[in-house]
This record gives sequence, structure tokens and C-alpha cells, in this order.
Amino acid sequence: MDKGLLFVISGPSGAGKGTICKQLVKAINITMSVSETTRAPREGEIHGKNYFFVSKEAFQKKKKENGYLEYAEVYGNFYGTPKEFIMEKIGSGHDVVLEIDFQGALQVKEKFPDGIFIFILPPSMKELKKRIVNRGSESEKSCKERFNNALKEISYIDKYDYCVINDEVTNAVRKVRTIIEAEHYKVTKEIYDQIQKYKEELLCSTPQ
Ligand code: 5GP
Repeated sequence: MDKGLLFVISGPSGAGKGTICKQLVKAINITMSVSETTRAPREGEIHGKNYFFVSKEAFQKKKKENGYLEYAEVYGNFYGTPKEFIMEKIGSGHDVVLEIDFQGALQVKEKFPDGIFIFILPPSMKELKKRIVNRGSESEKSCKERFNNALKEISYIDKYDYCVINDEVTNAVRKVRTIIEAEHYKVTKEIYDQIQKYKEELLCSTPQ
């Protein structure tokens, strides 16, 4: 059985990566990883759906036990991708998408060079600011922090394979779907091995 592909989606807070991932999961056969975080749940967030909300102690314990594929501190809270779930899904042929920050993406790249890295950009920084403020879930201080961090996050874009500008969600989702689809038709080592078999078959069946 072919292994699934691992897609990593990053971008500044407010770029719309969360919305894009949610729509992707509805539209195609891809599993979204649910991260663990030490941050408090926001209104409406559900444990096990948006995140697994864990204590700092539980996070540190799992980190020591090497239970995260990657982890990072973002805005004073810890976030990590549970390793076991991802490995199991990919091993059983399912595509998986991680929505994580650039620090985590760099760690995944080290461990999973075959991963596909997609960066989501807002149409403009003005629009990004508007989206962060309009979200209403952050304090003024936190909004400023997120906006300043956006500039840092964007400076890592050269580590990614693709960039999608989220000017309109349906459009952006369509573009990410195109990337996912195309990645399934890449020439891989498995295809190369298959071609070798074709060649051998052809040689055996060619009349002498
Ligand atoms: P938020 O608190 O707004 O949900 O997420 C803050 C930032 O943490 C976002 O950039 C999000 O992509 C990132 N994030 C969420 N889960 C993870 C994770 O498991 N690992 C890493 N490295 N970043 C994460």
C-alpha cells in the first residue's frame, strides 16, 4: 500500500489557514492533525476538535517522551503535533495536513523531507491587520504581537514549496486542492521502481 502524503500549512495569524484547512477536510479525503496546546480554549473551541488542551506539565512530559513530531512556543503557549497519530495515518495510506507555525514546519522538514510545505499569505498586510482585529478573540496587545510576528513568519517563505494568496477562501481552497492533487502524480522512487519492472517485462516478452 502506498503511504499517504504529509502536507504542512503555515502562514501568519489571520491569513486564513484555519478556514482553508477546515474546508479542505470537508472537500477531500485528508486528515487534519489535532495539535496539543497549553493555551486556554477560546469561546466555542472544543477539546479534541480544535485542539487537545493540556496542562504545561502534561506537555513537558510528552515532549520528554519524544511524543511530538514537532513542537514550538507561540505567543507564550506551547503547541505540539502528536507523533503517533500522524505516523499511523500516513503509514496506512492517508494524507495528513498539519496547520502549524514556521518553527514547527522547519522541524518537520528535517524529519520528513518528503513533506509538502504550503505557505498561506493574506492579500495585503492591511487586510491581515483588519482580519486579526475583526476576529475579536485577541486583546489589543495580542493583536499587535500577532501582527509583528507576521513579518517574521513571512521571512521564512523560502523554506516552503508553494505559496497561496488567500484573497478569497473558495479560490484559495481550490488552489491548495490543486497542489495536493498534483503532488500525487509526482515521479517518486516507487514509480521509478515500477518503470524498471515494465522494462524487465518488456525485455522478457520481446520476441528474439
Ligand atoms: P492559535 O492559538 O491562534 O490557534 O494558534 C497560534 C499559532 O500556533 C498559529 O500560527 C498556529 O498555526 C500555530 N500552531 C497550532 N498548532 C501548532 C502545532 O502543533 N505546532 C506548531 N509549531 N504550531 C502550531
